[in-house]
Amino acid sequence: MVSVTFFGGGESRRGGQQDGADLRYDIEISLKEAYQGAEKEISYRAAASCDHCNGSGAEPGSKVVTCPTCGGAGRVVTSRGFFQVQQTCPTCGGSGRKPEKACSKCGGEGRVLKSRSVKVRIPPGVDTGQKLRSVGNGEAGLMGGHPGDLYVVIHVKESDLFERHGEDLYCDVPIKFTLAALGGSIEVPTLSNESGRVSLKIPAGTQPGTLFKLPDRGMPRLRGAGHGHQFVRVHIEVPKKLNSDQRKHLEAFATACGDADAPMDEGFLNKVKRFFE
Ligand SMILES: [Zn+2]
Ligand SMILES: [Zn+2]
Repeated sequence: MVSVTFFGGGESRRGGQQDGADLRYDIEISLKEAYQGAEKEISYRAAASCDHCNGSGAEPGSKVVTCPTCGGAGRVVTSRGFFQVQQTCPTCGGSGRKPEKACSKCGGEGRVLKSRSVKVRIPPGVDTGQKLRSVGNGEAGLMGGHPGDLYVVIHVKESDLFERHGEDLYCDVPIKFTLAALGGSIEVPTLSNESGRVSLKIPAGTQPGTLFKLPDRGMPRLRGAGHGHQFVRVHIEVPKKLNSDQRKHLEAFATACGDADAPMDEGFLNKVKRFFE
């Protein structure tokens, strides 16, 4: 997403001065960049002070004369029906003076469109919608007005591995039903170290949907120190197909369980018993 749009209006000031408008630049970054922070160079076109006339709008060497429109008053009076309306002079912008000859490069506006590039440091922990302000990198002002600012608006791309909730990260990890029953350890993806992996111990008897917490492996806190947490939600995979050897062993396991068809949750069995009473 690369676009520059006008953000705030330039403020009009005395003597034809006008502050430059603020600009908005939308930038898309990955979740990893949001985690680590990044430095991005962004390029855009914006009105900049004309270097031929130094922003004055006057052709170098040309004299500054009294404005012919307002006669130097800076205001003009126009009639609208029964009313007389006093306005800032449109020719000189209220200064009462204007260059005899307008700048040949900018046509007297004092500004020209120029390509610019700005380095932006994106701090670790940013989230979508947050704005970074680059002071003075907006539109140039008119006739000595202040330049506007550049606002860089962050968009963090959705990750297919991690779901972000503020400073916490969630990821879903499938494990085999045998591992859930017997216990063991697995490697899970993480943003919190260079290898991108961290080992997680699965205790014997782990149930579907169990949420494991990996403390301080979430997103860095933008304000304040430390990190959020990473949570790993396990999904238990039941094999869709068994070969004959696997089937034989599972049947032996079922036999070893005794009443092979009954679920192990006694609370549920008791509820069913009461239901039929
Ligand atoms: Zn005038
Ligand atoms: Zn110029």
